[in-house]
Amino acid sequence: MREPIGVYIHFPFCVKKCNYCDFLSGPANSEMRSAYVDALCREIRTFGGRRGANEASRGNEKIRVDTVFLGGGTPSVMDPADLTRVMETVRETFDVLPGAEISMEMNPGTFREDLLAFVKKYMGRVSLGLQSADDRELSLLGRIHTYAEFERCYEALRDAGIANINVDLMSAIPGQSLASWVRTLSRVLEKRPEHISCYSLIVEEGTPFYALYEAGRLDLPDEDEEREMYYETERWMEAHGYHRYEISNYARPGHECRHNVRYWRRSPYIGFGIGAASLIDETRWNNTRDLQKYLCGSGSPGDIREDIQQLSVSEQMEEFMFLGLRMMEGVSGADFAEAFGCELDSVFGAVCVRLISEGLLAREGDRYKLTARGIDVSNSVLAEFLLC
Ligand code: SF4
Repeated sequence: MREPIGVYIHFPFCVKKCNYCDFLSGPANSEMRSAYVDALCREIRTFGGRRGANEASRGNEKIRVDTVFLGGGTPSVMDPADLTRVMETVRETFDVLPGAEISMEMNPGTFREDLLAFVKKYMGRVSLGLQSADDRELSLLGRIHTYAEFERCYEALRDAGIANINVDLMSAIPGQSLASWVRTLSRVLEKRPEHISCYSLIVEEGTPFYALYEAGRLDLPDEDEEREMYYETERWMEAHGYHRYEISNYARPGHECRHNVRYWRRSPYIGFGIGAASLIDETRWNNTRDLQKYLCGSGSPGDIREDIQQLSVSEQMEEFMFLGLRMMEGVSGADFAEAFGCELDSVFGAVCVRLISEGLLAREGDRYKLTARGIDVSNSVLAEFLLC
């Protein structure tokens, strides 16, 4: 029997665009949102039908799913009736296993009482995009909520019985001091969410922040301040019982995000919706980013899938290393041998030895892991595992 897959569903709608955001998202009216959900349901059923037919020939009717993630954009901007249609289509199409991790992203500024019934019925985990506990910083980022609104949303979710909450935070915000970052950490840690993601702001081309940056009008913390924020994050998290399990992600024991771990372990997943990425049978593809094309073609995978890439064995090995090493547990030689039928050291031994001698990688038993210094410069270390 095939291993269970993950399902990602993209909702590309937001109340308004944040000043730093280059995600595939933007405002839309309720007719457009509903038409998009029609298209999503078509795409989900088509995929289930085709793969289901293949699986059926092996005596297994529905594809098993053990993680579902509603992301965006802002899934919580959607009408609960539309979200219900999507989740019912997922349940009809797939065999969603008991105990599956089912998550949705929520913007505290879109929280409404009528969402609660949907969340209670379908979601086990909610990921709240807070970014900062400082209202001035939130306004500068172009966020649509205050910290008090986040608190109301958080408490309402807890009262509704949501026992697994993530909070997204962002450091290195323009004008942010180390003291204000620590205030954010401390206010959020007081709430005891199960999971916290911490990312540094990246100024992406095409965003309002980029234009300000180019004009020399974006007051970003300097490199030393940014580094201090980063170290302070680790100290605060550890002191409060959160362990870092991936470069930017911290969890209380047992609350690592299983859907995201799937990406780093290269377990299969299907993405539905515009721009969504998939990895199935060692083939990667992205759906079109063109909304009209998606609305017209979502029932015909051939019309909406782009950048289809059947991964060679070398590419699979590269991914095994540079995705796996993002996790603090690192990569195992035994897992590599099982996946590829050869020793990890026979392919990457030389680069591992060099990185160990530079203090960027460590070996523990049959595992390789990034060291603290390796994490600091992870992008360049991970790039070392490209084979050509
Ligand atoms: S809410 Fe999220 S997806 Fe939407 S614009 Fe802001 S950062 Fe981007």
